[in-house]
Amino acid sequence: MADHTNEFTVRGACPHDCPDTCALLTTVEDGRAIRVAGNPAHRHTDGALCTKVSRYTERTYHPERLLTPMRRSGPKGSGQFEPIGWDEALDEIAARLKDIAARNPQAIVPYSYAGTMGQVQSEGMAARFFHQLGASFLDRTICAAAGGEALVQTLGGKLGMKVEHFAEAKLILIWGSNSIASNLHFWRLAQQAKRDGARLVCIDPRRSETADKCHEHIALRPGTDAALALALMHELIQNDWLDHDYIARHTLGWDALRERALLWSPERAAEICGVPAQQITDLARAYGTTKPAAIRLNYGMQRVKGGGNAVRAVACLPALTGAWRHRAGGLLLSASGHFPVDRATLHRPDLLAGKTPRTINMVTIGDDLLRESSPDFGPKIEALIVYNSNPVAVAPESAKVVQGFAREDLFTVVLEHFQTDTADHADILLPATTQLEHWDIHTSYGHTDVLLNRPAIAPVGEARPNTEVFRQLAERMGFDDPCFADSDETLCRQAFGDQVDFQQLLDQGFATLPVPEAPFADGGFQTPSGKCEFFSARLAAQGLDGLPDHLPNHEAAGSDPRHPLAMISPPARNFLNSSFVNVKSLRDIEGEPLLEISAADAVPRGIADGDVVRVFNQRGSYRCKARVSPRAREGVVNGLGIWWRKLGLDDTNVNQLTSQKLTDLGRAPVFYDCLVDVEKA
Ligand code: SF4
Repeated sequence: MADHTNEFTVRGACPHDCPDTCALLTTVEDGRAIRVAGNPAHRHTDGALCTKVSRYTERTYHPERLLTPMRRSGPKGSGQFEPIGWDEALDEIAARLKDIAARNPQAIVPYSYAGTMGQVQSEGMAARFFHQLGASFLDRTICAAAGGEALVQTLGGKLGMKVEHFAEAKLILIWGSNSIASNLHFWRLAQQAKRDGARLVCIDPRRSETADKCHEHIALRPGTDAALALALMHELIQNDWLDHDYIARHTLGWDALRERALLWSPERAAEICGVPAQQITDLARAYGTTKPAAIRLNYGMQRVKGGGNAVRAVACLPALTGAWRHRAGGLLLSASGHFPVDRATLHRPDLLAGKTPRTINMVTIGDDLLRESSPDFGPKIEALIVYNSNPVAVAPESAKVVQGFAREDLFTVVLEHFQTDTADHADILLPATTQLEHWDIHTSYGHTDVLLNRPAIAPVGEARPNTEVFRQLAERMGFDDPCFADSDETLCRQAFGDQVDFQQLLDQGFATLPVPEAPFADGGFQTPSGKCEFFSARLAAQGLDGLPDHLPNHEAAGSDPRHPLAMISPPARNFLNSSFVNVKSLRDIEGEPLLEISAADAVPRGIADGDVVRVFNQRGSYRCKARVSPRAREGVVNGLGIWWRKLGLDDTNVNQLTSQKLTDLGRAPVFYDCLVDVEKA
């Protein structure tokens, strides 16, 4: 910390759901944060933040920040509240939870995700509280579970290349990622590689800002990535661009995969993917003959029925060519498996003391809130405690989600910074601190450094950290385990125990994990066989296909004549899921909710650029503005998200159209597996 009389800087970490996990430097003057910048001493951040977080002070001191606890004063969902004191709020919550828990604690459900990714303010104290209570478990699957499960089955964990080595690659496939918008610091490395002669290929149904800047863009149909990967394997085999030694020593199931891949000629895949066969053979040649070749995979492509299989197929590629031998070769989807978080100490599952609660999948909260008690389902959901999430805006099939949240007999507590669509449905609304106001400690899914976040300013208004809310509730519930008295700094220390030097975190704000430069250069996969598992006996034992394959979408293109367009819903560039939508300067850049549509699809429908359109399917309809744009390929529309419903044109957003169906692996959502049609409104 540099101290200049009444001005000083505090080291922190960006808490948002982004692989970059930047190191922050907050300048504080007279107790007020005046600037948030990237820490130049942290090599991954390199002094630069994205547009969203460089405006963090605007968010922290936003005139609409929630400043006091509030109780609902109007009809459910009306957003009408009256201020109350903290003691009154916590007493009421504890009384309601005690009453429900006396009947069946599983009727209480926590609902949280990556609104903040810190280990402490996410599940630190909250997990302890819900374990002791015996509340339902939440399956936190809404983003990364299909791809994560695929990596576990194939590589043995959420492990991969160190991001810094992409700068040395000679070919980079940017697969399912708009890196400029959602992985900026990786993009800087890709640019460096490009300047040094690397070829960049973007694989994405949308012609994103990233695709604009790559040498080539392969605009495949949503949900066809596995077909493309299998055809690449076909060509690697046919042309013998294989590393036979690596395959023999470090893989499992080669003969079976070879047989499967040989069914996937480029012509067959081209038909399914909607791209020219020549583009596939050219890509295979580049991938098979360029060394080192690296793949930056991201989660967009796994939000379809076959998302898990697609990630498995792509994750097999580096083992076929031996790309893992080089530190700048291989694949990165997530690095989070490298972090030795001590979850037993942090989350205290032992507090369950033999209780075995049911699990609610956060993806199907719409349906589950509307279910009655039954032997299969268990008790009807009577209480929801929502923190770090905005399910009314982000969960699929939102008409049902809204209907569920509007239940008069549901007791809903929301911990939030702002009055989001979900907060509008709270019975008790509690003001939460932002990252500038509390302690936390962070892993990353895009690099391999641990970051510490120290509070820079006092809490704004009466806001309290999530940890403090659960600590106080625990006391009122009569939970007397000493762990409920742990301070936030203690929780930060417990997160990694002696696996990470906490003094180093205090001194410089970050610590680098000792991860091998090329993690699978000599095999060493963390699967049961110790090999890259092309064939997974564990999947086969579950009755699933042991080999990766292409699975058509639940709503495959051409399968429903009433809804001929496939819709994907990637994030608008200046939003991060539903965070930042209420930051006016960012919303002004985005303008209004947009649907990108190709001229080929717009013209026959009489739709011109700027028209208000109705996007619809069997689940609902959504009004937004059409942008007739080459960013959309023919047959696919891009509904940019995720707007708050109440800031949209008709109090809905794109999730009015998405479904609650699940992926092949990981029980994850299928946001990009969604057929619609569009008409001028
Ligand atoms: S959102 Fe991502 S790029 Fe932006 S500051 Fe946070 S970690 Fe960095």
